[in-house]
Amino acid sequence: MPLYDFRCKQCGHPFTVRASFQQKDAGLRPECPVCHATETQQLLTAVAFIGAESGGSSLPLPMTSSGPACGCGSGGCGCG
Ligand SMILES: [Zn+2]
Repeated sequence: MPLYDFRCKQCGHPFTVRASFQQKDAGLRPECPVCHATETQQLLTAVAFIGAESGGSSLPLPMTSSGPACGCGSGGCGCG
């Protein structure tokens, strides 16, 4: 049975709910264990990514520009 991560919109408390796919399809309305509000927001989890693999494209990692990481520009500070 998969797990779903939620965050309470009322108090911001994150919590995990265990529910079947049938329960999820029927409209899962978990209750916050802290303040018992039903205004919750589902968080993206690894479960969601497994189901979204049809795209097949992986984003390339952003390339860092060459040069001193510290920004001194000349290596004068000892970074180079
Ligand atoms: Zn809450």
